[in-house]
Amino acid sequence: MALKFFLTLALYSLLMTAGLILDTTDILSFGIKGNLSINPNDLSSASYDFGGQKQVEPLAVFHPVSAEDIAKLVKVAYESTQGFTVSARGHGHSVNGQAQTSNGIVIQMSESTNKPRRVLNEKLRYVDVWGGELWIDVLKSTLRHGLAPKSWTDYLYLSVGGTLSNAGISGQAFNHGPQISNVYELDVITGKGELKTCSEERNSELFHAVLGGLGQFGIITRARIALEPSPQRVRWIRMVYSNFSAFTQDQEYLISLHGQPPDANKLDYLEGSVIVDQTGSLHNCRSSFPSPGNISSLFGFAEGGVLYSLEIAKNYQQSNANSVDQEIEALLKSLNYIPATTFTRDLSYVDFLDRVHKAELKLRSQGLWDVPHPWLNLFVPKSRVEEFDKGVFKGILGSNSNGPILIYPMNKNKWDKRTSAVTPDHEVFYLVALLRSALDNKDSSQTLEYLSKQNGQILKFCNDNGIKIKQYLPHYATQKEWIDHFGDKWSTFYRRKMEFDPKHILAPGQGIFYPNF
Ligand code: FAD
Repeated sequence: MALKFFLTLALYSLLMTAGLILDTTDILSFGIKGNLSINPNDLSSASYDFGGQKQVEPLAVFHPVSAEDIAKLVKVAYESTQGFTVSARGHGHSVNGQAQTSNGIVIQMSESTNKPRRVLNEKLRYVDVWGGELWIDVLKSTLRHGLAPKSWTDYLYLSVGGTLSNAGISGQAFNHGPQISNVYELDVITGKGELKTCSEERNSELFHAVLGGLGQFGIITRARIALEPSPQRVRWIRMVYSNFSAFTQDQEYLISLHGQPPDANKLDYLEGSVIVDQTGSLHNCRSSFPSPGNISSLFGFAEGGVLYSLEIAKNYQQSNANSVDQEIEALLKSLNYIPATTFTRDLSYVDFLDRVHKAELKLRSQGLWDVPHPWLNLFVPKSRVEEFDKGVFKGILGSNSNGPILIYPMNKNKWDKRTSAVTPDHEVFYLVALLRSALDNKDSSQTLEYLSKQNGQILKFCNDNGIKIKQYLPHYATQKEWIDHFGDKWSTFYRRKMEFDPKHILAPGQGIFYPNF
């Protein structure tokens, strides 16, 4: 208690010295209960993210005890004459410093020990969770009631507020849409320090702004997430392709079956990946399927030196295990993969959803997790994905991926165009995720500099060839690039920013707006 008091006073005097707060009576009257810290360990952890490419220390770190606490802090930032920025940090899994700030306070949303309780409504099938909650904890708690969220990310150690600020996608998105399409209601603290509840019906402008809004309009403190009855098990099948057209045609065929009878054709998950190198241990580590040795023997078939792997899954209840086998067998008959390359795994729902965590543990043990990650995530229109394959997978990458490359299609009609998320203007588009790890070793083609340059070449290739991609988890250096990114959504995005965060206090690490206090 004494330490907390000391740190708080220390911070206030720091902020006062910096001219950010006028006098102590202001502070005492705010009644903020959380812990404001200038402890070097706190500052250091708030300045780091998964990307490891950018490190910016905040003035202080705030550990809130409630949404009201955050509202009070943002209000101080908004009302004080000189102001300061406020950046919510979920689990710090951005790759370009998006949750960092140099001239303000980072709020540690996921580390707060006093998280408000989750409230689950079994009848209406939803759960209310704290914005800093990790998806793995949401899953574990809802499973106790036989329910689970519908739409996922591949990795579950991400915060609810962090993924809802982007979109939240995985192999379920073709079916359920992204996570932002599976939220009923939010509590949000705007850049004016107002705590508002919003939904389709109530404060809908704020609701749509915040979903996919890159943290620009408000801090999500509570999300009401849609649930469905949880399956018990998952049958997960992988097959290999040597021909890109066959691979994408099968993917598009499979997602087109969704929503059409018979239900037996319905898949619950679909993701593809590209294998450009035979050794790729990082790739293999993540995919949980057979060793590089098995893949190597198939490279003889590879057209242009590249193989493609398709992963599909069907969820089921134990009592339906037999019919799942038959349904999958029937589906596989209509696909054009390399014969005898199917590989099947059967696992519990939680083990399936939490699969990347196992890869994380493996990579950590090899010292390969805490390395820089120059990731590039793109949405590529279906009509141009073949050119992308020729130019990038069979061209620019040159047999060297430095990590998994995911590629899977999504249906635009599952994305609500009123949200802030940006997708290409096509009914079907692919996520292409180059999930690269940079290594500081003798091989110059694995360095951060090399991989970052290659990312630039990929973006230039798309630009030069008129392939109208959109970045997912976008990162740009100039506002002009941001305006191009948002395209015809920019005017709405800008208007909403002026309404909900007029002093540009929130999430400055995205680099879209600069504080105007
Ligand atoms: P942070 O990095 O902490 O924050 C990201 C942004 O959101 C910042 O601008 C921050 O200010 C803002 N923010 C954070 N919390 C809040 C809040 N409560 N309210 C408002 N704004 C907030 N994404 C996918 O879609 N699908 C995947 O399969 C996927 N897999 C991933 C796997 C790994 C290993 C990693 C590192 C990332 C992956 N991502 C994936 C990307 C991930 O969804 C984003 O990086 C997301 O932002 C991370 O969440 P976070 O909680 O770490 O957010």
